[in-house]
Amino acid sequence: MTSVQTPDGLPAAKATTVADALGRPLHDLRISLLDQCNLRCPYCMPESEFHSDYEFLRKQQRLTYDEIIQVVRVATGLGVGKIRLTGGEPLLDKNIAELIGRLTDLPLVKDLAMTTNGMLLATAAPKLAKAGLHRVTVSLDSLDDGVFSHMSGGRGDVSKVLAGIRAAEDAGLDPIKINVVVQRGVNDHTIIDLLEYFRGTGHIVRLIEFMDVGNRNGWRMDQVMPSRKVLELVEQRWPLQAMDKNYTGEVARRYKYVDGEGEIGFISSVTEPFCGNCSRARLSADGMLYTCLFATHGTDLREPLRNGADDNELRDILSQIWLQRADRYSELRQPDLAEAHILRKVEMYRIGG
Ligand code: SAM
Ligand code: SF4
Ligand code: SF4
Repeated sequence: MTSVQTPDGLPAAKATTVADALGRPLHDLRISLLDQCNLRCPYCMPESEFHSDYEFLRKQQRLTYDEIIQVVRVATGLGVGKIRLTGGEPLLDKNIAELIGRLTDLPLVKDLAMTTNGMLLATAAPKLAKAGLHRVTVSLDSLDDGVFSHMSGGRGDVSKVLAGIRAAEDAGLDPIKINVVVQRGVNDHTIIDLLEYFRGTGHIVRLIEFMDVGNRNGWRMDQVMPSRKVLELVEQRWPLQAMDKNYTGEVARRYKYVDGEGEIGFISSVTEPFCGNCSRARLSADGMLYTCLFATHGTDLREPLRNGADDNELRDILSQIWLQRADRYSELRQPDLAEAHILRKVEMYRIGG
């Protein structure tokens, strides 16, 4: 049991931690605000599937801010301290600053971050920071216009994303992380240029293996560039030194440039799974709670919320879900890749990475 002090020194909300069937605590909640996106990255929302006739969630189907706040309030009572807003593209939600303000008012929310493709960040960054957002992660797969255009389904613009990153920096939303999905033969030849650009800026580039999330992105193992290969590539240019984890459950393996020009990370879900410390739950925009990025089923929280469940009832539901959790998809994937690939898994754009 952890007790927390308010700024005026009075005892505030308390968290009782809950551990899953494999002894892992619940620390992080990722909230997908909407399933729509202004890009069509082929590894996430390929245009062939997500075309103009595709039916995204209607507003009434999405959780309201009141409902999100209730879930977060209850989740923080069970040990969640880190919240990440994601999507789809979270900045397509025009009122997001209001939600951020309300989340920062919750006493047990220690870290509030957002993952965005950065296309709308240049104008949004000041209001996000003013509302209380702590940090942003910006996804940018290449600085090469042609490569980025391909990897964003013809809709992305490198200069807009870079302007967004600068605006986030000016607004103090740092340290900024830059997410790069590495696909063999697609953008691996542009990684060094991208690292060069961000070296010395204080921003942390994270090189992510292309993952078999969902069933719609045509994932193939031969398109995965294993992190150890990327590491070799980077080390040919700049010597790196491994760093300790910031905290248990951190998914990125951290390295620093030996010459002191900053830090980079590797997220190697496919070739070096890290399920043992996974402490994340994911909430979709329509209120489904998933306990694994590769889940084949989730639990509907919207129905009990709309039937008037109070905090105690919701707390029972959340703790039961977490207590029963035994997910470790990435660890099991290794020997049984073929079978794993045919499971009907939740799509990345619904749960936001
Ligand atoms: N639209 C926002 C963005 O792109 O930053 C937030 C949602 S997006 C689903 C979150 C992260 O998931 C992004 O960094 C994206 O690159 C990553 N991602 C999406 N599909 C992926 C895949 N198949 N493998 C690895 N990372 C993926
Ligand atoms: Fe959109 Fe992000 Fe998915 Fe790309 S990765 S399609 S930006 S949700
Ligand atoms: Fe966590 Fe599932 Fe990823 Fe394993 S595969 S680290 S349990 S999200």
